[in-house]
Amino acid sequence: MNLFPSHCVVNGFRNTVIQNLVQGKFEVVNNEDLKIHLLPELPFLINIPSPTYDIYESPSIITNAIIEVSISNNLIKKKNLNLLLNILEGCLCKHIVVRFTTFIDNHRLLILFKEFKKYNIHSVCILLNYHKEYYNNDFANAIKYSGCIYTCIFFKSPFEKNLENLIHFTKSEYKITYNKVLTEFNSNIPLYLEAQKFNTYFNKKVFISETGQIKNAPECSQSFGNVTNLKSLNDLKEIVEDTEFQRFWKVKKDSCDICQDCEFRYMCVDNRIPIIRDDRTAYFEKECNYNPYINKWRGEENYLSLADLGIFLNNSNS
Ligand code: SF4
Repeated sequence: MNLFPSHCVVNGFRNTVIQNLVQGKFEVVNNEDLKIHLLPELPFLINIPSPTYDIYESPSIITNAIIEVSISNNLIKKKNLNLLLNILEGCLCKHIVVRFTTFIDNHRLLILFKEFKKYNIHSVCILLNYHKEYYNNDFANAIKYSGCIYTCIFFKSPFEKNLENLIHFTKSEYKITYNKVLTEFNSNIPLYLEAQKFNTYFNKKVFISETGQIKNAPECSQSFGNVTNLKSLNDLKEIVEDTEFQRFWKVKKDSCDICQDCEFRYMCVDNRIPIIRDDRTAYFEKECNYNPYINKWRGEENYLSLADLGIFLNNSNS
């Protein structure tokens, strides 16, 4: 009997996570505590089958996109950005990160923000460098009442400020980071299901670079064309359906060294490039900042890296 269809129990090497997929919560329990204290009280925990809704299906060709808007890729022009958004809407892409790499004045930016409303996009995240002309009420209201912009982050700001968890000013520079943060893990049904079969970062993602290159993700080196040549939905479809473009899509955490022993593997969105072996298992060159064998985060007292534990990963999986 499935007593808690909304819950799933994910065992790691030292810890177990009890995920509440409906309420978006999770509890981390030490495996020993689970055995000694919880299981005698809650014996049904060991019999909880995985949720029965175990098939991940999405009608979208692309579910999420990262777009860099610049002068060199011409997306700074409303007409070109609209064409791209139109194509992405045709792919049923629901989540978009838009990063402005070129300064754009307040007035033109507000015009572009209005364009997002025209499309059936669930969430837009805006990233750009701070400029004093953005720091005004009109701008804040345009974001607040846009209906689709769920966050806007200003980098290189002279101050730190968080306005209603929607507009963030940070002194930091934009940079790709590979660090995982416990507070950013998500416990929800779509992510859990996707993680059973796919890589939750690379699957169904597209990235348009500052120079117009079309890639699976910013971390990827291989380009599959240029945005300036995209004229229709079919042009993007052809690129995305290329098996090389989808190289990392099916590299699920259960096939990856170390992550397969981690209790967070169905909640963690990991942007490290997997190195795929002939037998389809994979490993990473960069170590994660969480070590599931000692359940410690880098920076925590008594933290040891994998290398400290004598674990070195390479192309051989023995
Ligand atoms: S070990 Fe893997 S699954 Fe665990 S937190 Fe790190 S990247 Fe995520």
